[in-house]
Amino acid sequence: MNLDQAKHWITAGKSVTGFTGAGISTESGIPDFRSPNGVWSRNRTVYFQEFMNNETDRIEYWRQKVESWPAMRDASPNPGHIAFVKLAREHKLIALITQNIDGLHQRSGLKADLVLELHGTTSKVTCLTCRDDISMDEAFERISQGELAPKCRLCRGLLKPATVSFGQTLPMNVLHESRQAAQTCTVFLAVGSSLVVEPAASLPLLAKQAGAKLIIVNQSKTPLDRFADFVFRDNISQVLPQLVGI
Ligand code: ZN
Repeated sequence: MNLDQAKHWITAGKSVTGFTGAGISTESGIPDFRSPNGVWSRNRTVYFQEFMNNETDRIEYWRQKVESWPAMRDASPNPGHIAFVKLAREHKLIALITQNIDGLHQRSGLKADLVLELHGTTSKVTCLTCRDDISMDEAFERISQGELAPKCRLCRGLLKPATVSFGQTLPMNVLHESRQAAQTCTVFLAVGSSLVVEPAASLPLLAKQAGAKLIIVNQSKTPLDRFADFVFRDNISQVLPQLVGI
C-alpha cells in the first residue's frame, strides 16, 4: 500500500523538508488568490514599481489587502499544519518552505526559524525607507480610519506589507536556505502546490538529485508527479496526519 510505504519513508527517515502552497491554506478557509476564481482574477495586479510610483496604485493595492486580510487573520491551522509540528517535535523537520503568506505554520506551533517564507508574510507591514515594522492589524485600523495608503509615522516613508509583490525579487537568503534544506533531507514532502512557478518547480528536483524521496500531496496533477516516489491526490488534512503517524 502506497500510504504505508510513504509513511515508512517519513517515520523511519532521518530528515524531512516540507514545502507548502495555497492548497494547505484553502483547507483552512483561505481563498487561493491565484486560482481562476480567486481574488486576483477579479482584481487588477498592482506591480511593485506601480506601488512605488503612484498613489492611486498604492490605494488600490491596499484596498485589495484590506479585502483579503480578515480571511487570513481569522483562519486557524488545520491537521495538515499540525502534521508538520509533529515532525518538528520529533526533530525530523529540517525546514518548512512555504509559498503562503498567512503565517498559519507559525500559528500551528512551528518555530519561526524553521519556516522559510518565500513570498514573505502579510501579518507584518514594513516601512520601505527606515524598515520599521507595524502589524497588519494596525495598518488595517489606520486604513479604516481613512488613511487609504498609510505612511510610516517615523519617517513618512511608504508602508508596504512584508510580502513579495509581482515585480519584486524573492529574498535571496530565504532562497539559499531553501535550496540547502532541499539538498540535505531524506524526504521532500511537497504539499498543496501546483509546483509550476519557481522555485517550487525546481526545489523538489534538487532534493531528488541529492538522493531524497519525493512525496507530493496535491488535489490536482503537477508537472513533477512523474519524478515523485509517491503522489497523493487527496485532502491534505486527511493524508498528512496519516503520513506522519498521528
Ligand atoms: Zn519609516
